[in-house]
Amino acid sequence: MSKLYVVPTPIGNLEDITLRSLRILKEVDFILAEDTRTTGKLLKHYDISKPLVAHHIHNEHKSVARIVDQIKASNGAAIVSDAGTPAISDPGFLLIRTCIENDIEIICLPGPSAIIPAIVGSGFSCDSFVFEGFLPHKKGRQTKWKMLAEEKRSIVLYESPHRLIKALTEIKEYLEEERQICVAREISKIHETYHRGTSTELLAYFTENPPKGEIVIVISAKEKPKKSKHD
Ligand code: SAM
Repeated sequence: MSKLYVVPTPIGNLEDITLRSLRILKEVDFILAEDTRTTGKLLKHYDISKPLVAHHIHNEHKSVARIVDQIKASNGAAIVSDAGTPAISDPGFLLIRTCIENDIEIICLPGPSAIIPAIVGSGFSCDSFVFEGFLPHKKGRQTKWKMLAEEKRSIVLYESPHRLIKALTEIKEYLEEERQICVAREISKIHETYHRGTSTELLAYFTENPPKGEIVIVISAKEKPKKSKHD
């Protein structure tokens, strides 16, 4: 049976790649990459020489059938994205689903993704949480905030630094004032920071100190109403 390995790659610090991921990248016949230049640098760092095939959001619908045939004819292929786990706010889902439909075995390796360090490092409840990825920029954004306002679990969002102020302003508008927010920035990189506070406190901070780099927003779970003496 042919195999597709889903291989997570570092989200910053190049040491954050597992020994198994490196072995698989060395063993497969070819690697499907979101950006062949970015993956080329990673492979060079680890002295791996392997054919790279471009597989990004702009060509995935067109190329998926051809790639499935290539995987079937191979002794195994790997898919990587620029950073983190493929298919998590990155290309990969369509190919994985099509491979399953075509009896190609999917072997998804555990590894880096910005979600887990952000929720765990936030210090907010991580027994259960929701991951929303990037919110829509325009259409459907308001509806999404209204839905998230009702959500009882912690919420993890991806956001770009130039939309952080907009997102914090919306959190202030749609969620309770006392809700704790954590902005996890540049996880695993030199300038990694975790800023925690209410939306008002974080708005004041980030208006003074415009953020740079990559960002995850974590919103603490909705507090359960306190029991009265009579309950
Ligand atoms: N596939 C990736 C994953 O598994 O995390 C996510 C890719 S998505 C295109 C990129 C977004 O992930 C960024 O805009 C940011 O929200 C988040 N992200 C990725 N790396 C990060 C880092 N080192 N620190 C903080 N956020 C990060």
